[in-house]
Amino acid sequence: MTTATLAEPETAYQKVLDLLEKHHSMMRRSLPLIASENVVSPAVREALVSDFMHRYAEGWPGERLYAGCRYIDEVELLAIELGKAVYRAEFVDVRPISGVVANLVAYTAFARPGDMMVALTIPHGGHISHGKEKWGGTAGVVRGLDVERYEFDEENFEIDVDASARRLRKIEAETGKKPRLFMLGASVFLFPHPVKEIRSLADQYGAYVVYDAAHVAGLIAGGRFQDPLREGADCMTMSTHKTLAGPQHGMVVSWNKYGERLKQVAFPGLLSNHHLHAVAGLAIALAEALAFYREYASQIIRNAKILAESLYELGIDVLYPNKGFTESHTIVADVSKYMDGRTAEEKLEQAGIIVNRNLIPKDYRLKTDYRRPSGIRLGSQEVTRLGMKESEMKQIAEFIADVIVKGKEPSKVAEDVAEFRSNYRKVHYCFENATGAYDYIRIR
Ligand SMILES: *Cc1c(COP(=O)(O)O)cnc(C)c1O
Repeated sequence: MTTATLAEPETAYQKVLDLLEKHHSMMRRSLPLIASENVVSPAVREALVSDFMHRYAEGWPGERLYAGCRYIDEVELLAIELGKAVYRAEFVDVRPISGVVANLVAYTAFARPGDMMVALTIPHGGHISHGKEKWGGTAGVVRGLDVERYEFDEENFEIDVDASARRLRKIEAETGKKPRLFMLGASVFLFPHPVKEIRSLADQYGAYVVYDAAHVAGLIAGGRFQDPLREGADCMTMSTHKTLAGPQHGMVVSWNKYGERLKQVAFPGLLSNHHLHAVAGLAIALAEALAFYREYASQIIRNAKILAESLYELGIDVLYPNKGFTESHTIVADVSKYMDGRTAEEKLEQAGIIVNRNLIPKDYRLKTDYRRPSGIRLGSQEVTRLGMKESEMKQIAEFIADVIVKGKEPSKVAEDVAEFRSNYRKVHYCFENATGAYDYIRIR
């Protein structure tokens, strides 16, 4: 962007709008396989551009600090009721504006600065918001928690509960410190976490268990992954836009006994306004979840397994073949025998296949530079939402192998990808879909 453009406001204005349209046409030609994204229904998009986006409503419905909230309150109460039904929960707060803010609500409600939290490291699938101060993680930097890691079984990609318990006892013997909060949930989330076992461990310390469902909220909504509240979690936090295909927002789900505490932390502690258009969009997404997610979540998982199997047969080392690759929407592949993860990400993008590079467990041992990790991570949730099933997954695997294994020219593959994509234009698993998934809507 040149300063000449900035001196001409209308040129800059036009440029932004042009870039938005270009992005939409790129998405129409691409295969979206980023595991943390999804596409919302036309009804959710409608909510997002409604007048709710202009308004303020601090506080809880019925106890607002602003006037004009009559309809906003009704929508927010509906969102709360829908959230309770979807997750069979006693308490739901739909105000956190993102997954990280939802985690901060939990950290603030269940721990104090200096308390010990146990969480997964990033190469083992953890999220930066669970991270220690040394790595710039939210838990350490913002809430001042002392973050300790779980011991992890790389062979099976699961938390080693016994080894973690031994590690915690050793820390206690050496320093006198005890855990206050056990964080579960991950950003590379292939198999259910041992919630029951961690609950028993936490009980030995009188500690809390929080489950970060950012990635798997839609699978849990469909009853297809695990049920953290029934298995012993005190609280579940989430983003509402990954497998749960709602607007970019957050949510906290818990029990009545923690309700007042969580409410107080969210407001006035961490939020002023809470993005009311997103709350309306979330209510719609939760209604879609109640109606369609048993089927949607099943198809997401079937598709992830088939995609993994097909890639594996074509020579790509998808991890954990011994465990059926995955029980979620996510698969992880070690591409290091062909190229590093970053190069794979770039070549695939040139071919219209959008994935992200990722650290994998062996990078933890090898201390690989995080900028050039050994792996890539793929998610099946968005292509499933576009109506794709098993045969389409096999085709996607061929496109990926063309680039990574066979070394085909990415721009050639991009043409085939665009042609293939033209048959999948609508959002499925929703009540109405007159507008295409990536159609650009002009209203000016
Ligand atoms: C994506 C993610 C988050 C962050 O969510 P935002 O909505 O982007 O703030 C938190 N935790 C985990 C495990 C995630 O994968």
